[in-house]
Amino acid sequence: MRTLILSLALACMAGIADLAAQTRLVTHRGYWDCEGSAENSIASLKKSKDVNAYGSELDVIITADGVPVVHHDSAIEGILIEEADYDQIKDRKLSNGETLPTLEDYLLAFKEIPDMKLVLEIKPHKRVVNEDRAVNAVLYMVERHQLEERVDYISFSMNICKELRRRAPYAPVAYLNGDVSPRDLKRLGMDMDYHYKVFDKNPSWIKESKDLGVKVNVWTVNDPAIMRSLVEQGVDFITTNAPLELNKILKR
Ligand code: MG
Repeated sequence: MRTLILSLALACMAGIADLAAQTRLVTHRGYWDCEGSAENSIASLKKSKDVNAYGSELDVIITADGVPVVHHDSAIEGILIEEADYDQIKDRKLSNGETLPTLEDYLLAFKEIPDMKLVLEIKPHKRVVNEDRAVNAVLYMVERHQLEERVDYISFSMNICKELRRRAPYAPVAYLNGDVSPRDLKRLGMDMDYHYKVFDKNPSWIKESKDLGVKVNVWTVNDPAIMRSLVEQGVDFITTNAPLELNKILKR
């Protein structure tokens, strides 16, 4: 009897471990590939919730006068954002008709959406001083809205990742650029968020990261065959433009 109870308990614990190990979905620039949405729009943030995303990713750049805005490219209609004042770009429209959102707009909308994270990318800026200003402004705003526990940070810039790590020791920070080993990320206190092709060249990195306790996010995976392979390898997160495809695989 005692053996039976023990085996049931172990089976139950294994079940919980499996559940905890399941890959989670991050929508890349929100869920934009649907009616009424657009990349990095507030609509795409809200629609991420409809597809049960763990997190909704967004890109942030700071203007010359210190306003963090949500946009992927360094320029908008030919105007370099980090060299422009907010007034010069504030009326630009996204493809779904929304006005270019500020980070403030985005956080206010995000606060109304329960049980989802923001995966906040701070874009590399031309000048390091602007990267540091961006980190400063983003952390200040997240703290002011008391959202510290709901935001994960990512960046291609090692300077930004280090600055985030130093300034927000509580926050998950993942590096995007694919050129730092799991062991070195562990040493830096960062997680991994790499393009899926990085793992063709470094096939041991997913397992090594898992062994070290470094979380693995993989971008931008839209092909169901690659999604399946990554889920089987137990990556923590997949960032995708095709959340419905990934959900089909995760539900199986
Ligand atoms: Mg991004």
